[in-house]
Amino acid sequence: MNAIDGLQLLAELEGEHCELNHGPDTRAEDFPAVDYIVIPFGYKIDEVQEVAARELVIPVCAECATALSGEEWTLLYCFECNSSHWINRRLAKNRYRHHILWLRGCPDCSYEFGGLYFNEVNGLADERAEFLKIQAKLSAA
Ligand SMILES: [Zn+2]
Ligand SMILES: [Zn+2]
Repeated sequence: MNAIDGLQLLAELEGEHCELNHGPDTRAEDFPAVDYIVIPFGYKIDEVQEVAARELVIPVCAECATALSGEEWTLLYCFECNSSHWINRRLAKNRYRHHILWLRGCPDCSYEFGGLYFNEVNGLADERAEFLKIQAKLSAA
């Protein structure tokens, strides 16, 4: 994402609501977004060249941003239907190390399960998923 697009998004942040799951019977209005997470999906041409085919931009509230930065929670996010589930790592049967696991298809949508992505999404590291505000600050510096 270039700096102009980033600034434009941030300008629209007011009025956006968190798109992550806060449990049943919660209203989006209760969770005003404070930032976006930006995830480049793309592919590698070779070891040095990467092409970000598209970017997924998700508004998140302060609570979710904190959870995504901490060590307690892992987010399962389906990028076919945009549904998400939080997993408390201490209570989970499996050991989760990643902050976000990307699902291609999940029980909530009609897409056939196409795979689980972590660390690398078609060659792009999930470490590249960034908070837009941090990214914008970096490119302004
Ligand atoms: Zn949230
Ligand atoms: Zn789904």
